[in-house]
Amino acid sequence: MINLTDVLTHFGENRKQYFNAVSPPVIQSSNFVFDTVQEFRDAVGDELSHHIYTRGNNPTVEILRKKMAALESAEDALVTSSGAAAIAASVMSQVKAGDHVICVNKPYSWTYKLLSNLLSKFGVEVTYVDATSVVEMRAAIQPNTSVLYLECPNSLTFEISDLRACSALAKDNGLISIIDNSHCSPIFQRPIEMGIDIVVHSATKYLNGHSDVVVGVIASSKEIINQIFVNEYMTLGINISPHDANLVIRGLRTLELRMNRSDETAHKVVSFLKSHDKIEKVIFPLDPDFSQYELAKTQMTGCGGLITIVLEVQDKPAVLRFIDAINNFLMAVSWGGYESLMIPSIIFHDMPGIPDSPIPWTYVRLYIGLEDADYLIEDLEQALDKM
Ligand SMILES: *Cc1c(COP(=O)(O)O)cnc(C)c1O
Repeated sequence: MINLTDVLTHFGENRKQYFNAVSPPVIQSSNFVFDTVQEFRDAVGDELSHHIYTRGNNPTVEILRKKMAALESAEDALVTSSGAAAIAASVMSQVKAGDHVICVNKPYSWTYKLLSNLLSKFGVEVTYVDATSVVEMRAAIQPNTSVLYLECPNSLTFEISDLRACSALAKDNGLISIIDNSHCSPIFQRPIEMGIDIVVHSATKYLNGHSDVVVGVIASSKEIINQIFVNEYMTLGINISPHDANLVIRGLRTLELRMNRSDETAHKVVSFLKSHDKIEKVIFPLDPDFSQYELAKTQMTGCGGLITIVLEVQDKPAVLRFIDAINNFLMAVSWGGYESLMIPSIIFHDMPGIPDSPIPWTYVRLYIGLEDADYLIEDLEQALDKM
């Protein structure tokens, strides 16, 4: 078992190497010097453990790699230029032309585009399945299936997959299981401990936590990480800058504090919303009324700040009145930062030339940041009154 506090505060940092500085330096260098031919050769033979060039391995980024691997109970990790890059590199590393991927229904939008648009150009097929049904996943397996792709909880409506059953299914059938663990972060869910092969993150969200860096993480076995490193990572050039890595290391110092704060406040907001007569439904995996609450409790130790609400309204103008009246939730994409956010589904309806979102226009996703619960609840209350 990892010591979480140690990983966030010290692990991976070797202060003797940089003047005993408490805070690690940003090693802002593209390349690194060798004294002898032998040293250079040794490095080329194992680039991930040496410093040759910053597209591969940079000392500041390496500190973050080590911390992320430890947090996910993985042997190693890579830090990428975005969550989308982490997802694309992981999936691409496990498929070849003619292969088949099983993916949960309505994954993150760019995961869908990777599977349905980009990889289909290279002859990779995909079947989308109900994330809650291991039976449906098993039925979707074909002789050419190589990957089982999960996102748990799933975007917006938070379907839960039974991670232990999914990893057993993958192992029994020779599939590599991949999970997008951005929603819980390793503070609340550790899929590798439940047998999942590869964990990916949008570290833009909780891991960095300050809405100022776009970054991704891949955590897995040494073998898989090495394979991704020498192929997709180095070839596509999906590294992050040392400066951004340093900001994420700073973000990690408070990861546990921030996650617990968002989680506690979210529970208070959920209980307010559930008792409000203008709210038809509140979707939050660790609420006892959530349809998969019992399963969620067996694999998540917390939920974080994402809540989806369904407004009890008859027409679209009422939804717009609610949104216009909100002051303390910013309307923006993303989540996981210090600031509370909302993203109403109505945005993705009635757009000229674009099909309506499958998520009804009465749905609004809230993200609970670090603000005080009353500050957020009072704002929701006055906006629901105006709705
Ligand atoms: C934001 C997000 C991503 C993509 O991450 P980027 O850092 O924006 O590339 C992937 N998965 C989920 C669940 C996300 O919310």
